[in-house]
Amino acid sequence: MNVVEIRKDFPILQQTVNGHPLVYLDSAATSQKPRQVIEVLCRYYETDNANVHRGVHTLGTRATEAYELAREKVARFINAPSPLQVVFTRGTTESLNMVAYGWARRKLGPGDEIVTTPAEHHSNLIPWQQAARATGATLKYVPLQPDGTISLEDVRAAVTPRTKLMAIAHVSNVLGTIHPVREIAEIVHQAGGILVVDGAQSVPHLPVDVQALDCDFLAFSGHKMCGPTGIGVLYGKKRLLDEMEPTYFGGEMIDVVELYESTWKETPWKFEGGTPIIAGAIGLGAAVDYLSQIGMQEIRNHDLRITAYALERLREVEDLAIYGPAEAERRGGLVTFNLGQIHPHDVSTVLDAQGVAIRAGHHCAQPLMRILNVPATARASFYLYNTEEDIDALVRALRSAKEFFGHAVG
Ligand code: PLP
Repeated sequence: MNVVEIRKDFPILQQTVNGHPLVYLDSAATSQKPRQVIEVLCRYYETDNANVHRGVHTLGTRATEAYELAREKVARFINAPSPLQVVFTRGTTESLNMVAYGWARRKLGPGDEIVTTPAEHHSNLIPWQQAARATGATLKYVPLQPDGTISLEDVRAAVTPRTKLMAIAHVSNVLGTIHPVREIAEIVHQAGGILVVDGAQSVPHLPVDVQALDCDFLAFSGHKMCGPTGIGVLYGKKRLLDEMEPTYFGGEMIDVVELYESTWKETPWKFEGGTPIIAGAIGLGAAVDYLSQIGMQEIRNHDLRITAYALERLREVEDLAIYGPAEAERRGGLVTFNLGQIHPHDVSTVLDAQGVAIRAGHHCAQPLMRILNVPATARASFYLYNTEEDIDALVRALRSAKEFFGHAVG
């Protein structure tokens, strides 16, 4: 994998910010977009734009074919048995809410259990809180180990025959932990439940094979994997998608509409009410082409090298507390930290003055911040365009933040 060449694909990286070359270390929030994706979006709007599944004119046919081809590309990317198991959504948040509304609220009742972890992104927590509240089901948590991992023993203890659903991130957006989804799926299935996987931080970074993982639902976002904002995916096992209710009702998702009742199209179209996110889906298809051409294993290997280097260099910075597993192999491509008592927003502001973009805040994971006993953290996250030089720039900027706020360190 030639990172120097890859960087040339990303026009946004060729700029200076605050007088310094941009060092973009916030890809876990959203990734940058390669020329190849931007060009596909422009070409679609310049030559093919039309509504899908409606008109029989040439542009309508072209747009429909491109939209459905994108679904096929996404299905191949995650090794879904069929493109009909790929639902286009607005993103991970919407995908998870669709399962919570369309499946959990229909299937759960008092006495049933939903199991998750306290490290989840709010998008994989609040929908289950709300579903539990609406159905009378109980929400249970698998405890976190001090290093941010979870033990399969604890999963076995938490999951019971009453567990109808377990939801977990494949990769934590704060701790970076890669969770053993395959093994968790086995435990949940043995108890008769289903496993919902939040793939927002894994699908962009690791080879993800839904059949090998044997997850029941997988949610992810296009914008974190070189695609446009506003498009995401819900993958589901066919039987579960078939028994799941649509969340949105209206145009396009129907079969027959009578005055007092209606029937729906089959999966996945019954979930895509209204004009779908056509350009977004086509852009995601282009992103999938781009990532596949480089190779997801190559991207994972690159993340691993950069993360190992970042862990090594960051450990040299005095007063820097690093959260999550010690070994790069157990992490996705991100490192979360705090610099002494300096508020992460202040750290981020000083870094930004040197062109280094990182995320600071609670990362949509307030319960986890409480477990870590901090109000917020800083997070540097990496992708295929980051280099060791980017990490060196991060470390230099952190040292200067430390000098700047010297009194607050320790
Ligand atoms: N889950 C995880 C682990 C995330 O990191 C994110 C985004 O940061 C989300 C869910 C929500 O994704 P989106 O905002 O694209 O819906």
